[in-house]
Amino acid sequence: MPLTESETAVLEPDALEALVSALRARGYRVLGPMLRDGAIVYDDLSSAADLPIGWTDVQQPGRYRVERREDAARFGYAVGPHSWKRFLLPARLRVWRARRDGDGFEIDGEEAESAPLAFVGVRGCEISAIAIQDRVLLGGRHVDADYAARRDGAFVVAVDCFEPADTCFCVSMGGGPGITAGHDLALSEILDGEHRFLARAGSQRGAELLRALPTRRAATDDVAAAAAAVEAAAGRMTRTVEAGDLRDLLARNLEHPRWEQVAQRCLTCGNCTMVCPTCFCTNVEDVSDLTGMEVERVRIWESCFAVDHSFLHGGSVRQSGRSRYRQWLTHKFGTWHDQFDSSGCVGCGRCIAWCPVGIDVTEELAAIRESDGARG
Ligand code: SF4
Ligand code: SF4
Repeated sequence: MPLTESETAVLEPDALEALVSALRARGYRVLGPMLRDGAIVYDDLSSAADLPIGWTDVQQPGRYRVERREDAARFGYAVGPHSWKRFLLPARLRVWRARRDGDGFEIDGEEAESAPLAFVGVRGCEISAIAIQDRVLLGGRHVDADYAARRDGAFVVAVDCFEPADTCFCVSMGGGPGITAGHDLALSEILDGEHRFLARAGSQRGAELLRALPTRRAATDDVAAAAAAVEAAAGRMTRTVEAGDLRDLLARNLEHPRWEQVAQRCLTCGNCTMVCPTCFCTNVEDVSDLTGMEVERVRIWESCFAVDHSFLHGGSVRQSGRSRYRQWLTHKFGTWHDQFDSSGCVGCGRCIAWCPVGIDVTEELAAIRESDGARG
């Protein structure tokens, strides 16, 4: 009997190879997780054998390590330094190039990404992050044409997270660890003795792809095992944020002494903004060649921790580390709501793990809340 959009099926681990092949056969550029340089990163998957089989990550504030697992889990880690924004909003993108031509010049525009993208191994927090960037880059009056071209037709193979890191708090922000929306295909990796994947289609094309894979019908036990793994993962998450009233809490604490204390530690390196899957600020640079015959305009990721980020005529508005950290945190958790009707944080924990001095947003927010009560 043919599968419908909401049906489920079970795949053996070896069927992931068929999944990658089927996506490639449909013309997708297939991207997914792999182990490289001591981290689990996202790049082109040539085969399911590229997945980080039997590896996990261990994360704490200012610390990220990969370690061997005792099983052959394909998705047995949380999230690494990369997010899918690396492909949807590249860190460096040539916008146009111009060449002198006699007394004039010629301008070449850039072609957008040609093959549709397929993301394999997308976490719940990452689906939320993509939805946030969609609102920012597609939802306003000014649509980012390059982002729109890359996002158009992107196929999402999401995977429930059953191994949250010590730095994760997606339960507080409402985006994980289970997959509930935003996917074409959702997988639950079940490791309760028989290694298998419960697959759920989330769209017509997801159902069509699932139909092309070697599967067996899902039993009640498979569905129950997947649900139990998600529930157990949620229960293991130790970090929390009281998210409901953060906008107002931060707005009435702009002069809180905690901003000065965190500024004593913060290096204003901008790592937190680079790894954050929702940060979207960019800048442009014009670069000419040594002969002066060619010039190109390049769009690059920008950080609100850079002094020049707030440069207006006469100087930068936010000169101190205190003001720059405050800008980041109050925008992400507060004024983002005014601009985009949601929080700018999905609780992935990357900014905590990749901060070289281990500054933890959950701790900073809790400290402000604690003495807000005392002051109030
Ligand atoms: S909070 Fe950490 S990662 Fe962010 S700018 Fe400061 S030192 Fe760098
Ligand atoms: S602010 Fe930190 S925890 Fe929140 S989405 Fe960005 S990197 Fe993840």
